[in-house]
Amino acid sequence: MGSELKKITEQADFESEAFVESSGSEYQISEDIFECAMCGECCSGFGGTYVTDDDISRISTFINCDIVEFRAKFCSKSGSKYVLSQSQTGKCIFFEESRQCTIHPVKPHMCRAWPFIPTVISNPENWNAMADSCPGMKKNIPHDDLIRIVSVEIKKLAKRT
Ligand code: SF4
Ligand code: SF4
Repeated sequence: MGSELKKITEQADFESEAFVESSGSEYQISEDIFECAMCGECCSGFGGTYVTDDDISRISTFINCDIVEFRAKFCSKSGSKYVLSQSQTGKCIFFEESRQCTIHPVKPHMCRAWPFIPTVISNPENWNAMADSCPGMKKNIPHDDLIRIVSVEIKKLAKRT
């Protein structure tokens, strides 16, 4: 596990322990605050979909492509980092209207994590702003519930990675 993920896991451990007593709330699990509406908006590429070396390795293997070729054909540079390129429609190069994400089993960490990301823990107000572009997210969730649920989901994803 990378040091960044380890940090997130440790933070999630702390937060989930801190908020484990949550009885009485109508928001208990991730499905209570988010259900993907499959609208494809988050695949529109605004801001870019960053891919880590691990992401690139997994996706390259999945589509049977050499890593160097993968970077040249499917990635663009954003500063010093790689992002997935966009097609002419402005969507991610791996998005298809009929199938949505064509690399779903190996999609980048950032796509798998959404919308349960560390910035929501450090600043829960971000949740409502994110929800403006994601119809699957319920708005106005009490911050204690948000922090608890997001922490648990970050921890779960880190364990799977
Ligand atoms: S924008 Fe939200 S609801 Fe739409 S596909 Fe992405 S995660 Fe799902
Ligand atoms: S990798 Fe898949 S989920 Fe991520 S932006 Fe591209 S099409 Fe969407």
